[in-house]
Amino acid sequence: MGYSGLRVIYEALTGHKGWKPAWRDPAPQSEYDIVIVGGGGHGLATAYYLAREFGQARIAVLEKGWIGGGNVGRNTTIIRSNYLLDGNEPFYELSLRLWEGLEQELNFNAMVSQRGILNLVHTDAQRDAARRRGNAMILNGSDAELLDQDGVRALYPFLNFDDARFPIKGGLLHRRGGTVRHDGVAWGYARAADRRGVDIIQNCEVTGFRIENGRVRGVETSRGYIGAGKVGVAVAGSSSRVMQKAGLRLPIESHVLQAFVSEGLKPLIPGVITFGAGHFYCSQSDKGGLVFGGDIDMYNSYAQRGNLPVIEDVLEGGMALIPALGRVRLLRAWGGIMDMSMDGSPFIDRTGIEGLYFNGGWCYGGFKATPASGFCFAHLMATDRPHAVAGAYRLDRFRSGHMIDEKGQGAQPNLH
Ligand SMILES: Cc1cc2nc3c(=O)[nH]c(=O)nc-3n(C[C@H](O)[C@H](O)[C@H](O)COP(=O)(O)OP(=O)(O)OC[C@H]3O[C@@H](n4cnc5c(N)ncnc54)[C@H](O)[C@@H]3O)c2cc1C
Repeated sequence: MGYSGLRVIYEALTGHKGWKPAWRDPAPQSEYDIVIVGGGGHGLATAYYLAREFGQARIAVLEKGWIGGGNVGRNTTIIRSNYLLDGNEPFYELSLRLWEGLEQELNFNAMVSQRGILNLVHTDAQRDAARRRGNAMILNGSDAELLDQDGVRALYPFLNFDDARFPIKGGLLHRRGGTVRHDGVAWGYARAADRRGVDIIQNCEVTGFRIENGRVRGVETSRGYIGAGKVGVAVAGSSSRVMQKAGLRLPIESHVLQAFVSEGLKPLIPGVITFGAGHFYCSQSDKGGLVFGGDIDMYNSYAQRGNLPVIEDVLEGGMALIPALGRVRLLRAWGGIMDMSMDGSPFIDRTGIEGLYFNGGWCYGGFKATPASGFCFAHLMATDRPHAVAGAYRLDRFRSGHMIDEKGQGAQPNLH
């Protein structure tokens, strides 16, 4: 069934009896050509591009819970192409371009909203770094504008300009960045993949891999054994635990990241703002809630909930930047498990086991990567060659000394 405005009007006039489930609920088959482990944004996008772009068939996505229950439905919805390094920026620019045509392609309203992202600067050194990043972005085909204080004030007059411990000196504006309805992305890809024959199997946890003579033959699941020619793992925060079942240790630690949403307010924040002197970023959802977050919880965990000191830290950052926040009531807070890599950059690579591929290490920035991650992982799995923009995301880059360290912090996952 195609979705359109006319369809909505027709269904409204006929009692909404014609809507069909957005995807089937098939029983697992005994064997597939390709099995994707993890029905988050990345796994679903991979299955979709495998079917649409690379003509692959007999594909299944195995999800231990339900579609949208992982980080794809827990993030703060920000998309952007504002990276500094060559290993990253072309990849994120591809992702943003895919976002720009995604809703038409999937025939699904994922509420892609390019409302702009403003990264504030508070010191001369930060301004220099922002200028350098902006130049790198432009050289890679993205957009960037350096604003002075008046430019920021014109967009966000309610920020704390005059009585601030860290005065706002300007900001780097990336107009094509913005937000997307996060779980809508999972549903859109799931529906489009299902239409191309992909079996999406929920409540099906992968509990092991069957590996013979260095080659993967299939996966053990809570719903029985499923044979597979190729297996791609895209389980985000569960990466270490799942890959351990294939005997692999990853350069990844799992940490919690929390997010918050306020009660609904009238339109206040037109785009996305990030504080440059503390960990705080904020946007406003179309329902009116302020959506904000900050740093990870700084200790290893697989729990999808966080601790109180980080809540205090995030809210202090928020109050320092937007004093009016003090009058807003908090509605909800939640957490998701981050697959923090040692240099803050991801992996899309083969493993040493033939037919077993890995996608992970997205840290807290994997939502914006969803389309390009799916596209490049599908490219790798279908052709056995890395896509040109994802060639740096190798698992062995620490051994070979080719870290992609945006922040220059070194091999310390909780600093990225
Ligand atoms: C609070 C928060 C804020 C964030 N904000 C942003 C942001 O603003 N912008 C941004 O770009 N990124 C953001 N991120 C990061 C982003 O959400 C993740 O990097 C990205 O969603 C991870 O990819 P995914 O969607 O495939 O993960 P998930 O949705 O977590 O998918 C992985 C799936 O694998 C399943 N799984 C795990 N183990 C198994 C198994 N054994 N068998 C079968 N299935 C299994 C899980 O149930 C899960 O559904 C944020 C994350 C959080 C938590």
